Amino acid sequence: MAKYANVIVDISHEKLDKTFQYLIPEELQSEVKEGVLVEIPFGHRNITGYVVEVTDEVEFEESRLKPLHNIKKGSVPIESQLIALAAWMRRNYGGTMNQALKTVIPIKQKTKAIERKTLRLLLSREEAIHTLAKYEENKRTVARAKLLRELMEEMELDYTLVTQKLHISPAIIKSLEKEQILAIDVSTEYRNPVNHLESKGYHLTLNERQQAVVDQVTENMDEGISKTYLLKGVTGSGKTEVYMELIAHTIAMGKQAIVLIPEIALTYQTVMRFYNRFGDKVSIMNSRLSPGERYDQYLRAKNGDIDIMIGPRSALFAPFSNLGLIIIDEEHETSYKSETVPRYHARETAIERARMNHASVVLGSATPSLDSYYAAKQGEYELLELTQRVQEKPLPTCEVIDLREELKNGNRSILSEKLQMLMEDRLNKKQQMMLFLNRRGVAGFMSCRSCGYVVKCPHCDVSLSQHNNGRMVCHYCGYEEPAPTKCPSCGSKYISGFKAGTQKIEQIVKERFPQARVLRMDFDTTRTKDSYEEILQTFANQEADVLIGTQMIVKGHDFPNVTLVGILAADMSLHVSDFHAAERTFQLLTQAAGRAGRGDEPGDVIIQTYNPEHYAILTAQEQDYESFYEQEVTYRMLMSYPPIWNLLVIMCTSEQEGQLEFATKKVFGHLEKTLKTEERLQGERIQLIGPANATISKVNDVYRKVIYIKTKEYQNLVLLKEQMEWYIRDNKDFQNVSVQFDFNPMNGF
Ligand code: ADP
Ligand code: ZN
Ligand code: ZN
Repeated sequence: MAKYANVIVDISHEKLDKTFQYLIPEELQSEVKEGVLVEIPFGHRNITGYVVEVTDEVEFEESRLKPLHNIKKGSVPIESQLIALAAWMRRNYGGTMNQALKTVIPIKQKTKAIERKTLRLLLSREEAIHTLAKYEENKRTVARAKLLRELMEEMELDYTLVTQKLHISPAIIKSLEKEQILAIDVSTEYRNPVNHLESKGYHLTLNERQQAVVDQVTENMDEGISKTYLLKGVTGSGKTEVYMELIAHTIAMGKQAIVLIPEIALTYQTVMRFYNRFGDKVSIMNSRLSPGERYDQYLRAKNGDIDIMIGPRSALFAPFSNLGLIIIDEEHETSYKSETVPRYHARETAIERARMNHASVVLGSATPSLDSYYAAKQGEYELLELTQRVQEKPLPTCEVIDLREELKNGNRSILSEKLQMLMEDRLNKKQQMMLFLNRRGVAGFMSCRSCGYVVKCPHCDVSLSQHNNGRMVCHYCGYEEPAPTKCPSCGSKYISGFKAGTQKIEQIVKERFPQARVLRMDFDTTRTKDSYEEILQTFANQEADVLIGTQMIVKGHDFPNVTLVGILAADMSLHVSDFHAAERTFQLLTQAAGRAGRGDEPGDVIIQTYNPEHYAILTAQEQDYESFYEQEVTYRMLMSYPPIWNLLVIMCTSEQEGQLEFATKKVFGHLEKTLKTEERLQGERIQLIGPANATISKVNDVYRKVIYIKTKEYQNLVLLKEQMEWYIRDNKDFQNVSVQFDFNPMNGF
């Protein structure tokens, strides 16, 4: 039983950055835990504070510590739960308590009252129809037509929603106000993106399969059984409708719900579906909110003004007092893992938060992560399935093109003969197509264009990465060899790094099909705030024939007129030096393929590859998740990778190369020693690998080295992490070296 409590005082006064230590009186030692609200002496006053840590480590002179008075009686404030969650995150993912606290609780901003503007239609129905017809005739008034159509539907629209989600410029709104087509109403209140919408309570009648899934969850809820469910449902099987029904049930029970959706899929259409059903009980969070707006959303949740919080990862920390349900859509997405300390995974953290609240968790995906499906197979999650699309649309036909054959036949273009033929055909039929380049991170691998051979690490079975010095390096173990000049397998000289960008492809397509209207969506074209949705909107309006892009284009909107999807080089994601490579490839291919044939016309999918026999490609072609899973899990088992084992990456960084080298060796040495001496680790199978250079071994003049630890039990890794944290703390060898921990990383290092 711990003797000391580290306490932060009165959060609402911005004292997030300091803890104070108190003695825990003996009679309270069993009750004082992380997150508990306690009464403490502070200066000459008595105030309250939250216990953020209980420990046996004294931070000051014991004689100078004061005992805390009491545990505060009465209702448990919501913050205590989030603090307990932060403590859990700190323990399980590393970093400081402050970093964890800042992740779960937004810092209070002094916010002045905010003006909220709403647009109101001033025209009668007839006048509106007449004006709309006029706008629709003229190419230059497309935006006006769009706004008017939306206003005719809703009568009132939130100003920021119109500018941010519909992309109507303030100038246009102003001129419509001048022409007395609309009025702008101003009011002051909480910043709420879509406050004035009336809930229409609109909902579809679920089909039998959807209803069965809903019943299975709600029956448990009603009996007070909370679980984690994995809803595996093909795209278009009606998962979102299922979520909404579960949310309605949750609200009817007097509880609240959190819905996590990857930011990139958080489009106007998605958000409107929730508003149409639940009205202003909904709030959204996204990365564009200012800290002040973020804090307002936090208050609205805390005050009980809303019941549903929708948003990316961080929406998980909405301070609902009676949380009943957490939904994580597209649960396989890597964006659910934080890339900053604490590097938490939203799925695991959601499950922990749900456990604290006795709430249910529903994970949804058409292509569940290997982690989740494995957990479902182990009986940890309950598996729910939707195997058919709502409107019985057939899945598209899918053909694999062997690029090695194309090369043999003298076609050195990135567009295979078959793909060119189909593109020609679709252009003639005025149908649309998407060309997809599944680039991911740094694709530094080398492959042979004649036989498909890829240079791999003999120890780790991941691709070696090309370095500038002409050597091939493994980022899991540091193994190196010189880059080959001819293929070790077939002797061909066509062995090289894989380089092709979306820009190059755009150029090739425009040369080959001068008549085609081509749009490109990638990191470069989506830098500005709303360009992502603008491009999607342009394509949806059929103002372009071809959309070329990276993974960004496989999410979000439905394009019924798309009847051809070309995946240009499936290999690009297959050989990145990351043990998830096959899983990501399968997910991307399946999702990209799912874009074709969503309208009335059937669709074709072309997958181009140098490795037509790879299981990730074959199973994606067949849209056969089970078969992919079986083969992938075998690989993970053989190599002791997650989800079978757990993996901890210790990343050391420094501007001083020499010091980094020294410190990393120190960490490694101390790890080796700990494995030998730590009692709790005796008899455990633990692999220590490294130190090696990180995939990107130098960023902005900061050098990066990694150490890997593999073991079956996650808690072994937590224990080792704690030992390392203690070792590093106040150790002068680490003055200029930063050490970070990443548990089961999602993106290779
Ligand atoms: P998913 O989230 O699995 O991709 P959605 O919930 O978006 O699927 O549903 C796909 C489409 O089918 C949507 O346009 C939705 O409105 C429609 N839909 C879903 N359930 C039903 C239903 N029970 N009856 C009619 N249409 C439905
Ligand atoms: Zn070869
Ligand atoms: Zn290796």
